[in-house]
Amino acid sequence: MSFPPLVEPADELTIDEVRRYSRHLIIPDVGMSGQKRLKNAKVLVIGAGGLGSPALLYLAAAGVGTIGIAEFDEVDESNLQRQIIHGQSDIGKSKAVSAKESIAEANPYVNVVLHEGRLDNDNVMEVFRGYDLIVDGTDNFATRYMVNDAAYFLGIPYVWGSIYRFDGQASVFAPTLSDDAPCYRCLYPEPPPPGMVPSCAEGGVLGVLCSAIGSIQVNEGIKLLTGIGDPLVGKLMIYDALEMEYRKLKVRKDPNCALCGEHATVTELIDYETFCGAVSDEAAEAAAGSTISVGTLEHMLKEREEGSRDFVLVDVREPNEFEINRIPGSVLIPKGDFLNGSALEQLPTVDSGTQIVMHCKTGVRSAETLAIVKGAGYGDAVHVGGGVVAWVNQIDPSQPAY
Ligand SMILES: [Zn+2]
Repeated sequence: MSFPPLVEPADELTIDEVRRYSRHLIIPDVGMSGQKRLKNAKVLVIGAGGLGSPALLYLAAAGVGTIGIAEFDEVDESNLQRQIIHGQSDIGKSKAVSAKESIAEANPYVNVVLHEGRLDNDNVMEVFRGYDLIVDGTDNFATRYMVNDAAYFLGIPYVWGSIYRFDGQASVFAPTLSDDAPCYRCLYPEPPPPGMVPSCAEGGVLGVLCSAIGSIQVNEGIKLLTGIGDPLVGKLMIYDALEMEYRKLKVRKDPNCALCGEHATVTELIDYETFCGAVSDEAAEAAAGSTISVGTLEHMLKEREEGSRDFVLVDVREPNEFEINRIPGSVLIPKGDFLNGSALEQLPTVDSGTQIVMHCKTGVRSAETLAIVKGAGYGDAVHVGGGVVAWVNQIDPSQPAY
């Protein structure tokens, strides 16, 4: 299905611009009119991270006249394995500013607008308003649903992408462009159960995967802005980097979609944090009153060494993570072993009275496993708030963070 161009052409290109974009201008489908449309286009990229980095650089190089960057974070050393718009000297700097500087170097004819506040219900409509297209490079479900809903309310099409380890997905959600076009909620009516889908920070991502998906997002964006080709509307692109395989699935509009269906129940922005839930109800209940700080844990470990206290410290992360850093004296039993029940055989019995102390990277997974061991009868079990990240930050900065 093809669509009319999202943007009217600019009046003219300067001589410098004609020279710069000549390889576009000689493609008949793009030509002078397509390039003028790109010049007139206003595209908002959400996140200057894994997907945003290649997307921003290619949008800029392509000659998109106005590029907005919504990003509140700062550049961290662990970003540089994939976030190629930032460099070594940008560590500690605002990602939005760092991205703007790289764009100025890639193409000085682009006007860059920074939105450096964290996107939330109070500002999202104001930030989005006026853009022709949105490229979504967010990494969490709460923001994805908010982007989807706000874009729908404002009638702005957007290109969505997601990445995890070796797998990527991309699609175009534009229910206001056509009656058959689905939205993100048509594909994913509900977020996954909290804790079931790890983030890239928890599970890792192959750096180069970002460019595969980010460039698909720009590719689809250029097609929509200039009205060429057959964009990924109503289609989900799935990329498997290990098999080197692209598959395309049909995504139908859900007539019962809570947002774009016939009897919509979501008619304004909702509370997305609650909708997606940082942790499940069971985990939140287990963690209430049973969460200790890394400072307390350090004290407990000293007492254990002196023989005045007995407990087992269980690290519920994956073996790869355990290789990177660990809290001394911990034993590794990955969360999956708690889900399948085999972990309980590896723990001291409830009758032994030995306390169970659990931790993971940040405290989300250990809250889930805490609910399981409490359910198995370990009433005095606790977990460590902030996990190994807090341990490295506050107790042992000599260990690498990830
Ligand atoms: Zn929908």
